[in-house]
Amino acid sequence: MRIVVVGQGAAGVAAALSAAEAARTAGRAVAVTLIDKASESDAGGNTRWSPSNMRMASPDRVEDSFLRDVLAATKNRGDERYFTRLATDAPEVAAWAASHGVAFIQPPYYLAKGPPRIQPQGGGAALLAALVKAAKAAGVSFRYECAARGIVQAEGRIVGLEVDQSGRRETLPAEAIVLANGGFQGSAALMREHFGPGGDTMRLISPGTHYNGGDGIAMALAAGAAKSGDWNGMHAEPVDARATTSAPVVLVYPFGIVVDKTGRRFFDEGAGLVHETWEWFAREIHFNRPGSIAYTILDSRLFDIADYKRAIRSEVEPFRADTLSGLAGLIGVDAAALGETIAAYNAACVGTPDAFDATRCDGLHTHGLAPPKSNWARAIASPPYLAWPLVGAIAYTFGGIATDDQARVLNADGGPIPGLYAAGEITGHFYEAAPNSVAVLRALVFGRIAGRQAVAI
Ligand SMILES: Cc1cc2nc3c(=O)[nH]c(=O)nc-3n(C[C@H](O)[C@H](O)[C@H](O)COP(=O)(O)OP(=O)(O)OC[C@H]3O[C@@H](n4cnc5c(N)ncnc54)[C@H](O)[C@@H]3O)c2cc1C
Repeated sequence: MRIVVVGQGAAGVAAALSAAEAARTAGRAVAVTLIDKASESDAGGNTRWSPSNMRMASPDRVEDSFLRDVLAATKNRGDERYFTRLATDAPEVAAWAASHGVAFIQPPYYLAKGPPRIQPQGGGAALLAALVKAAKAAGVSFRYECAARGIVQAEGRIVGLEVDQSGRRETLPAEAIVLANGGFQGSAALMREHFGPGGDTMRLISPGTHYNGGDGIAMALAAGAAKSGDWNGMHAEPVDARATTSAPVVLVYPFGIVVDKTGRRFFDEGAGLVHETWEWFAREIHFNRPGSIAYTILDSRLFDIADYKRAIRSEVEPFRADTLSGLAGLIGVDAAALGETIAAYNAACVGTPDAFDATRCDGLHTHGLAPPKSNWARAIASPPYLAWPLVGAIAYTFGGIATDDQARVLNADGGPIPGLYAAGEITGHFYEAAPNSVAVLRALVFGRIAGRQAVAI
């Protein structure tokens, strides 16, 4: 039997390794090939650049509220069976990854406490390195610069995968295929089609993000797959407009204010913990603010927040000035408008500043301000004044193909397409907002399930 896995991110590597292991356990001769369209040194998609936080209380346990919280993020549109399986299998998958040399730590998550998370030590790059090594040792073949182009079916069954290997078209014979080649954020045309004007110019958050151009989704749809997930949904975060490194997020904005180019505030910076506001905020900047840019403004009290640098991943220092008009000049915002905005904001900060607590929603809110600021509202009055220019950057899209709790790709009638499996970002399942710290976890869990299922046919 031959299985081809498409994509060397968390989902693909988990699938390939688990397929090789399942074949060995069953005593079956199964040839497992993993292909990636990137070169060997660039393969790994988003996973490679991701810190890969996973929403688990510890490597052997998810929180009791996991299912409820994750479904709430999807506004209860998510598939309960799928997320139940995720919760059930997560500890087993963490133990499996650990058995292959992945060490887990429990790092602090930016500044706020929020739900507990674990992380592979060394992030996604270390996770992939360990699992790729194990997959090679288990006999998986790897082909790079090999792009999947189409699923070949005969009489309702998978018979092969059409690929471009270094520019040459060929068909890899296969009885089962696992698609793990990500969302469609890397395709400007698809981004524009689904998000409208501006979708095509959105910044990609990491160097690995652009490899995922929706090819796998298109191939699955052509093979009869149904759609799933929110096709108007994406995970995006605010990053420093000047930075050139991967994911240069600036997540201290809840502790100051944010203005657009006109010098006016436009949203509640303290509406929730940063992972509850960043997606919408990043989209708002990109799609609705003049010049697709905004500025977060803080003062020197930022430096009093313990470990504040953990929430700033930009390598570029903030603009800094002793006066607000000086700061306005540095960022090119009208000084009078910025002055008025901050005066109005300061006047509305009537709570006691001692209540300020960056680690939780502290309830320190403005009075009589529109839009309000619901937490961390204290006056900006202590020079030097600081500003970071922010743009919205996309990590991944939500719209994808339908799968079930066994990682089987489903057709329009809800039945499985024989021999076709999928895991990770390519599958839909996310609606409204990305459930925090679930993307890598689900890639591993359903990748592993897909590999085992593929061997079992
Ligand atoms: C900066 C950043 C931070 C993040 N932080 C977190 C976090 O803390 N926690 C979390 O859960 N999630 C996080 N995410 C999201 C998460 O990392 C991804 O959603 C997840 O890793 C996706 O895994 P995947 O295996 O589905 O896809 P990917 O890891 O993107 O892998 C897809 C692979 O498919 C390959 N490919 C694409 N098209 C083809 C083709 N036609 N043929 C062959 N190969 C192809 C690509 O080259 C790539 O190697 C973050 C993402 C980024 C970018």
